[in-house]
Amino acid sequence: MLEAETSATTTAVEAIAGYPVGHAVVPNLRDYSAFRSGFSWDAARGDLEGLPGGGLNIAHEAVDRHAAGKRGEHTALRWLGKNGTIQDFSYAKLSALSNRFANVLQHLGVAAGERVYILAGRIPELYIAALGAWKNRSVVCTLFSAFGPEPIRARMALGDARVLITTPALYQRKIVPVLDQLPGLRHVLLAGRSDTDGDIPGALDFAQLLREAGEHFGIAPTDPEDPALLHFTSGTTGTPKGAVHVHQAVVTHHATGKLVLDLHADDIFWCTADPGWVTGTSYGIIAPLTNGVTSIVDEADFDAERWYQILEQHRVSVWYTAPTAIRMLMKMGLAPLAGRKLPALRYLASVGEPLNPEAVRWGVKAFGLPFHDNWWQTETGGIMIANFPALDVRPGSMGKPVPGIDAAIVRHNADGSVIQLDEPGVEGELALRPGWPSMFRGYLNEEERYRKCFAGGWYLTGDLARRDADGYYWFVGRKDDVIKTSGHLIGPFEVESVLLEHPAVAEAGVIGKPDPVALEVVKAFVALKTGYAPGDALKKDIMAHARKRLGAVVAPKEIDFQQSLPKTRSGKIMRRLLKARELGLPEGDVSTLESM
Ligand code: ATP
Ligand code: MG
Repeated sequence: MLEAETSATTTAVEAIAGYPVGHAVVPNLRDYSAFRSGFSWDAARGDLEGLPGGGLNIAHEAVDRHAAGKRGEHTALRWLGKNGTIQDFSYAKLSALSNRFANVLQHLGVAAGERVYILAGRIPELYIAALGAWKNRSVVCTLFSAFGPEPIRARMALGDARVLITTPALYQRKIVPVLDQLPGLRHVLLAGRSDTDGDIPGALDFAQLLREAGEHFGIAPTDPEDPALLHFTSGTTGTPKGAVHVHQAVVTHHATGKLVLDLHADDIFWCTADPGWVTGTSYGIIAPLTNGVTSIVDEADFDAERWYQILEQHRVSVWYTAPTAIRMLMKMGLAPLAGRKLPALRYLASVGEPLNPEAVRWGVKAFGLPFHDNWWQTETGGIMIANFPALDVRPGSMGKPVPGIDAAIVRHNADGSVIQLDEPGVEGELALRPGWPSMFRGYLNEEERYRKCFAGGWYLTGDLARRDADGYYWFVGRKDDVIKTSGHLIGPFEVESVLLEHPAVAEAGVIGKPDPVALEVVKAFVALKTGYAPGDALKKDIMAHARKRLGAVVAPKEIDFQQSLPKTRSGKIMRRLLKARELGLPEGDVSTLESM
């Protein structure tokens, strides 16, 4: 049914060099095809050390092996506090602090496999606690600190939280109201406690416990299949799901950090994602540390001036961010960049949502470098499809499968069979051959839902895409978001990308609105750039642009202006909410909706 759809915007392929020509730093992956054909996950595991006592543990690979070697004094984390404080943690220091925390958990009697939750902003204690918990073989679950009490309660109850590390303020505001509904919670540890917080009964002092604990800790043998992480999905399409990951996920984190993000030992790397989302853990904690780089952690929220200053002052060389942030920077134009010098910046990457071609081109205008889009999900644990330094970037494409990842475009039939659609340009569901190390091992307490993700020997991603004749993958939309109009299937991404080409448009979200004749018609919601005001003339102009680029069938029939579009807290446009609001239907699970 999805076959034979061709892109309405097919033009000559635009390509941008994936890497600055003649750059002194040579990319880790220089020949994509050759590297891919010689790659195996077993061999990739050889890049890691393994535990002295046997097995594989994330924290050992992330900090201990560097701490014990030549990189012990190298800065692992550079923490930038909201108020201007800067704190550096060397690999040796991070190793010692996480040892202390592992000892704390042992003294508290927290067993291997029990779940340790962290509800905090991007503070150093979060990183110490996560690493220490992995050393204790506990399962780490980081929650986004801006969640309200109910989403926190639901996620803690689902994961049967044993321990919670949080701050006094978050504890009072978000945990106390639901504490009696968390019978499994045995210990609450408060980080950053001060005298003004007064007495908080039942809660322990993180700093004090850490001070009193020993600095040495031997990690017990860890089976690579031992669970290590519990991550909830973004809830873009419905109720968030709890994906379980195991210690050997670190093999994917390490390899993709090296091959996709091109991490070199002397890099200053900045992943802007919060560890409450999988990107902020896989690439905000694990991958940079296993690769031995210096990782920037900024406690503050998005602010264009601050971000540019961080890039400049800390000489960031590799920057991993998200389309929403890029679009916000684009919205402000190039003026905030005037006078900034960013000679160290070498590589830009983006994940989380489709990256519109306009955003890739803007990277070249603003930084002289394209953004390298890559695709993955909470479920995949690590980057699966990516633009690599060795390959030209085709703006609007997610790139090619990571070495070791077998991807395909498939049709999943009602009878359960799966057919591979190998013709270039054919749209279908993006599927991956299971077996990579960071693949999720289950949805917590949702066996049936997990089982349904697999058919015919494939993991079905729920996203629609197509592959071109050169093997590049192009995102079409989520299965739930695709629009059926007059016998055509339209992916919202293509329409949104064309709307974004219009000089007035900052953000666009496109849905299918039920229609008695066409089944659905394309409706767009648009937020404008600074300096533009909504009005009929502008609406007509945007529509005319869309019709010219997309043709009358695909172009939106209706456009509504909005101040900004509803997004998840991880920055994804919630099209299901635009649709529900348009149709006056219940909004469904909005626990991850960003407050506006
Ligand atoms: P839920 O599954 O709860 O609805 P979610 O799918 O948004 O939420 P995540 O796991 O955080 O939760 O996001 C993964 C999804 O994000 C992908 O399946 C895809 O739809 C989208 N995505 C991520 N990166 C890209 C990208 N580079 N291009 C297009 N889409 C992307
Ligand atoms: Mg999903």
